[in-house]
Amino acid sequence: MQEKRTQPLKIVLATRNKKKLGELKRVLAGAHVQLLGLDAFPGAPEVEETGATFEENAVLKASQVAKSTGHYALSDDSGLEVDALGGEPGVFSARYAGANANDQKNLDKLLLELKPVPEGKRTARFRAVIALAAPDGSVVRTFSGAVEGAIGFSPAGENGFGYDPVFYPQGHDRTFAQMESGEKDAMSHRARALQKLKKYLSRGQLK
Ligand code: IMP
Repeated sequence: MQEKRTQPLKIVLATRNKKKLGELKRVLAGAHVQLLGLDAFPGAPEVEETGATFEENAVLKASQVAKSTGHYALSDDSGLEVDALGGEPGVFSARYAGANANDQKNLDKLLLELKPVPEGKRTARFRAVIALAAPDGSVVRTFSGAVEGAIGFSPAGENGFGYDPVFYPQGHDRTFAQMESGEKDAMSHRARALQKLKKYLSRGQLK
């Protein structure tokens, strides 16, 4: 029989992004884990996202942070894949418009690239991969989530971030940016990956 843990398992979240830490804490409430931010580990390395896939990047970050802190570590990587652009911007989603990219510049570039692409051929998906690494840096598991949709012709909505103003999830006539955060959270790529992670952690197999 599996021995039950009494103390919550400590897991370091390999990001300095406070929003991601908050979202993880909300979703994993009740999973009997204690999430620590990287702030608690000033010596932890800044990990470069040099992987060719979301999975590679998530694994890279989780492994290095686990090894340097001596705790389990979680990391996520995400982005937008547009079919008419051969899957771009993909792992380059955050820096699509180049070195000084920001959300607005990335979005402008995407709409420009898609200008000649007609409705019906503008299909896309957000994808997220979360990696869980053990204290020795080995990968325990990865969890992925995706949400299918299409890219509009102009931005709509004020909520969210990144490409939300042009992304229409399948079956909806509003963009992610026109939805309340709770509505987006119920179907987002990240939420889907997080739910899989939560289910795994709730089984209490990690020691
Ligand atoms: P990262 O996972 O923090 O590296 O983010 C990758 C990039 O993908 C972000 O900067 C956004 O441009 C894009 N992205 C990822 N998830 C979302 C989302 O939920 N909405 C809009 N853009 C997203």
